[in-house]
Amino acid sequence: MQTAGKLMKVFLTRRIPQEGMKILSTGGVCEVSLWDSDEPVPRAELLKGVQGAHGLLCLLSDKIDAEVLDAAGPNLKVISTLSVGYDHLALDEIKKRGIRVGYTPDVLTDATAELTVALLLATARRLPEGVEEVKNGGWSSWKPLWLCGYGLSGSTVGVIGLGRIGMAIAQRLMPFGVKRLLYSGRTAKAHAAEVNGEFVPLDTLVSESDFIVVSCSLTPETQGLCDKAFFSKMKNTAVFVNSSRGAVVNQEDLYEALTSGQIAAAGLDVTTPEPLPTNHPLLTLKNCVVLPHIGSATYSTRGIMAALSANNLLGGLQGTDMPSELTF
Ligand code: NAP
Repeated sequence: MQTAGKLMKVFLTRRIPQEGMKILSTGGVCEVSLWDSDEPVPRAELLKGVQGAHGLLCLLSDKIDAEVLDAAGPNLKVISTLSVGYDHLALDEIKKRGIRVGYTPDVLTDATAELTVALLLATARRLPEGVEEVKNGGWSSWKPLWLCGYGLSGSTVGVIGLGRIGMAIAQRLMPFGVKRLLYSGRTAKAHAAEVNGEFVPLDTLVSESDFIVVSCSLTPETQGLCDKAFFSKMKNTAVFVNSSRGAVVNQEDLYEALTSGQIAAAGLDVTTPEPLPTNHPLLTLKNCVVLPHIGSATYSTRGIMAALSANNLLGGLQGTDMPSELTF
């Protein structure tokens, strides 16, 4: 596709909500070409589509590495990702080329925290199993110990990564009667006082928590953080929830922990790979609830994310402020 007149060329790796498309098409700044589909752009199409682009709007499923940047060439000024996570971007390569990056923090915090709480409750109180039993005739009568799970009242919750989303999860969980809120991370957080959060070493969090919620970013340090050693320190009655990135968890070790009775249950909104193959062993387990990465999936949040990423893209193209620019 040719750049017409002075319009700058941008490539979108997917259809995005109309809130974002409207901003891009009415700004008079850029000419948009896109992978016109709800499915991820094939790598070859990405490498082709990005050629000569001044701006790239991508999703978390697009790996933006040196090959993509080389394919884009020297015009590329800005990459805007429709996500708060940026582990799919090769930041060192991007920095070398002086390219700016926009992302979508804050606007998805509430939706993701809400979904994480829903997943925690669904997992701990065995909702998918219960729904299934109603449908398949397994519901015979009220039975004292049937489908019992674990409640939040009086519990200890451990949040790994008390950032924007971790904090929003903690704020939503406290009213359930949580007794202690532990958190771990690289640094203690002043905002933790609002939820009486105790900054503790990871080992303490793992061994003392009844519910563990992972909400940290995926980094070389957090990759595979939840492994055999981690699960072996958890209480047998504890529930594990991950809504950060799949690669924080070693899934073979999680499977082992769930089948051996080392831990009670797990709820995952993120997996490796995504989608998780339908024959994956984790999907055979009643005590594992897997969702298809829908943390931020409310209509309004996705619309706002699209608008923000479009405005980030325009700011980067014009060399002006971006509403949410990543500093790295
Ligand atoms: P954020 O505010 O940057 O929070 C990230 C947190 O991770 C920080 O508190 C950071 O703590 C912590 N962290 C970094 N390294 C750590 C380590 N080694 N151990 C423990 N904690 C560590 O980001 P956010 O907006 O809350 O988003 C967090 C992540 O959620 C994103 O990166 C993304 O992967 C994921 N996410 C998922 C969905 C979904 O749909 N499921 C939606 C949105 C986001 P320090 O400040 O102490 O380093």
